[in-house]
Amino acid sequence: MNTPLLIDGKAAAAQVLLHVREAVARLHEHDVQPALAVILVGSDPASQVYVRNKVLRAEEVGIRSLEHHLPSDTSTAHLLDLIARLNADCAVHGVLLQLPLPAHIDELRALQAISPDKDVDGFHSENVGGLSQGRAVLAPCTPSGCLYLLKQTCGDLRGKHAVVIGRSNIVGKPMAALLLQADCSVTVLHSRTPDPQALCRQADIVIAAVGRPRMIDASWLKPGAVVIDVGINRMDDNGASRLVGDVDFDSALTRVAAITPVPGGVGPMTIAFLMKNTVTAALNQHQAQRSLSEAVCHSTY
Ligand code: NDP
Repeated sequence: MNTPLLIDGKAAAAQVLLHVREAVARLHEHDVQPALAVILVGSDPASQVYVRNKVLRAEEVGIRSLEHHLPSDTSTAHLLDLIARLNADCAVHGVLLQLPLPAHIDELRALQAISPDKDVDGFHSENVGGLSQGRAVLAPCTPSGCLYLLKQTCGDLRGKHAVVIGRSNIVGKPMAALLLQADCSVTVLHSRTPDPQALCRQADIVIAAVGRPRMIDASWLKPGAVVIDVGINRMDDNGASRLVGDVDFDSALTRVAAITPVPGGVGPMTIAFLMKNTVTAALNQHQAQRSLSEAVCHSTY
């Protein structure tokens, strides 16, 4: 078999960000300064790192970022109040609520409170519904990034059998919806699926989004499969902390045609698509404002 291709998420993310930067420059020419508000509740160290990376990337591409760090004892009502203010602020185009939230906060209510046109994570039910109906919406960033990598690696995805392992609202389910839109035949596996290995071995494309370190080894994979490893698991490696995926990378390499590494695969794509969604949101809101003002100017009143 040929040497497996390592799918370079950093290079692909750089391509996406290049287009984002160009789109931001065009918006600047129309006096629109795309802005992303990021809300972090509490002081979870991993979330702090994610937020810092998102803010840095936004600055790099010319998107203004507004950080709202709230204490861990913030009430749902207080959080909803902040979201309402950001929804009403026309200088803010995207609102991101960093998950997980402290257990006492009503997460679903908070996510539903974000205006769908500012919902750059694509978690609002209006965007989820749009995605499942195949309408253009703000789609969740991680699955969008995975789809980009797959199209770049495989070209036409039509007719491929894709197996998604995991059915979470943020990765597994939207991933399955995007693959269906790309005309794949999709099988979704979860913790109650009997003999998941046998089903997975039929797949041309495997998306692993389980949250279990190195669970998927060569015995799960058909020779020549393309594997996207979404998992990010922190492991102790002789006292040093190390990130590993849901796929046993070394074992999988003996079977696959192409695979994403962890880190350096899906991770950079998630942030790149967050920037892309922010620019899309800014563009949509700017166009909506412009057509509204044109409608007012051309009205007979
Ligand atoms: P969740 O814990 O929300 O979902 C995990 C899913 O895996 C569930 O649907 C669960 O099934 C399924 N599952 C668990 N055990 C098994 C098993 N033995 N066989 C088959 N399915 C199983 O995780 P997320 O979707 O939020 O995240 C998944 C991974 O992706 C994590 O490692 C996370 O850190 C990573 N991640 C990475 C991102 C990135 O940017 N690279 C972004 C988001 C997540 P059931 O529903 O039955 O419980």
